[in-house]
Amino acid sequence: MKIYTNPTSCWCGGARNKTLPFPSPRSPPTLPHTPNPSFAQPPTMASMMQPQIILLKEGTDTSQGRAQVVSNINACTAVADTVRTTLGPRGMDKLIHDDKGGVTISNDGATIMRLLDIVHPAAKILVDIAKSQDSEVGDGTTTVVLLAAEFLKEAKPYVEDGVHPHSLIRSYRTAGNMAIQRVKELAVSIEGKSLEEKKSLLAKCAATTLSSKLIGGEKEFFASMVVDAVLAIGNDDRLNLIGIKKVPGGTMRDSFLVNGVAFKKTFSYAGFEQQPKKFLNPKILLLNIELELKSEKENAEIRLSDPLQYQSIVDAEWNIIYDKLDKCVKSGAKIVLSRLAIGDLATQYFADRDIFCAGRVTEEDLQRVAAATGGMVQTSVNNVIDEVLGSCEVFEEKQVGNERFNIFSGCPSGQTATIVLRGGADQFIEEAERSLHDAIMIVRRALKNSTVVPGGGAIDMEISKYLRQHARTIAGKSQFFVNSFAKALEVIPRQLCDNAGFDATDVLNKLRQKHASGEGANYGVDINTGGITDSFANFVWEPAVVKINAINAATEASCLILSVDETVKNPKSESAQGEAAAGAMAGRGGGAMRGRGGRGMRRR
Ligand code: ADP
Ligand code: MG
Repeated sequence: MKIYTNPTSCWCGGARNKTLPFPSPRSPPTLPHTPNPSFAQPPTMASMMQPQIILLKEGTDTSQGRAQVVSNINACTAVADTVRTTLGPRGMDKLIHDDKGGVTISNDGATIMRLLDIVHPAAKILVDIAKSQDSEVGDGTTTVVLLAAEFLKEAKPYVEDGVHPHSLIRSYRTAGNMAIQRVKELAVSIEGKSLEEKKSLLAKCAATTLSSKLIGGEKEFFASMVVDAVLAIGNDDRLNLIGIKKVPGGTMRDSFLVNGVAFKKTFSYAGFEQQPKKFLNPKILLLNIELELKSEKENAEIRLSDPLQYQSIVDAEWNIIYDKLDKCVKSGAKIVLSRLAIGDLATQYFADRDIFCAGRVTEEDLQRVAAATGGMVQTSVNNVIDEVLGSCEVFEEKQVGNERFNIFSGCPSGQTATIVLRGGADQFIEEAERSLHDAIMIVRRALKNSTVVPGGGAIDMEISKYLRQHARTIAGKSQFFVNSFAKALEVIPRQLCDNAGFDATDVLNKLRQKHASGEGANYGVDINTGGITDSFANFVWEPAVVKINAINAATEASCLILSVDETVKNPKSESAQGEAAAGAMAGRGGGAMRGRGGRGMRRR
């Protein structure tokens, strides 16, 4: 397999040679653009007998062979090293700031990987698996990167010693499948429990996810909030039915859950103050039209022969808007929401009739109100029947911190929930939102698959032991490779120890001994004391799907990287871009040299 890179990327390749010794049967040889120095020299006997065939364009950079595999492995290890320290409850956070001044503090592997903007072609694969883990399961993003890098690290000595990567790949694939099979066997089902029991089990999973985050200190508080939110939306797959609203100020404990929809008060016009701010069992009209006195003549050409006719046009405009407003009022709705603006005339009109209105509600919020209240968004006010109106038990406009919030609670379909997050700094609330997202995903996964495994490295140690035992039964080289795979799995407990400042070798030895005794399958790292503990009994639980997906993705990624033995950097795109840049420069009179990396300059 070959990787073709964009020349703007900069990365370290392995051995390089610009010409290929043999022509490929498919691509015809091309002549060089510049005279090759070797042509100018008097030909030696050897060069006459073995003419040098130039196959790729001058400037092509190819790296191939064992050195290339090793170089890719090194790049992946370097990437994993950046996220290594974030793993686990004692993991550190990363502060990433970009040239626009944006600052992100995160512990989430996928977020960090995304922001790092990695250009190495092979290392990008790790970014992709972190992203896919994030969208597929929501958690375990650091885990997946660490596992993939560790699989590769274990493979490196073999590659250097001349083992063919495909032998490694075959063994890794088998080991990966066996590991996943074993996780499935060891997973404990939480099916068939009562709602209360289920709630507390799900909260345990959410708490484990949250324990490694900034808001880990309040994990129980947030875990139960997340579980309530997820249970509220039931089996609906739309994640955006759970809204997270961020309001800076206050403390984390001031965060609260609304069983319904809440959104920040939208921009309002004069007259808004006179509208009532609380309703019991109101009917709600959802619109996607503008309720503003608009100059209709802007859209049409009107010819007047008599100046007196002008008044009739103005009147017509007023009639149009009054007609719309009248229809809204007649529908019986007490609350009117619109995705588009509701102007001052309409605001005052509604205020006079004790109706609450809000314009410029975001699409997302409007959809959530629709889902929660059972209403339907209308694009016209003609013929508004009762069925399209939504309803809820209580509508209220409330002060939250510095903001006013419109809150709809006690909604009939009940299929929405909103978490209003409070906290000090913006970066803090943003990280809290990401953490809650992870927890929400985990609870949803646990609810769907309903099997959990012990965390804290317990499951990893148990699979490792299982694979080592299996390796002993294999004849041939594969034994080493399966063993290496097993050893690589220990990276999770080892890193948890390292990050917490424990002696990893000591803890790992204890864990190995415990697991080998046959009774300690649930034993993992005790993050509080630096010893080992029964993770299951301590409720450090993770949904099995996190581990299954992580092992699967990491195995696939490491096999993919091992199978790449050649990287070709194609100069074509470089010259094409260079020409484009030069052309643009000529067009601008050479004044604006915007050719990226000064490539345009070289061509002049
Ligand atoms: P990821 O991005 O992979 O989810 P985290 O930083 O969330 O990385 O760390 C997850 C790891 O931390 C898991 O292996 C989990 O078992 C472990 N972990 C979480 N909570 C605890 C705990 N209380 N004690 C020990 N290990 C824990
Ligand atoms: Mg996590």
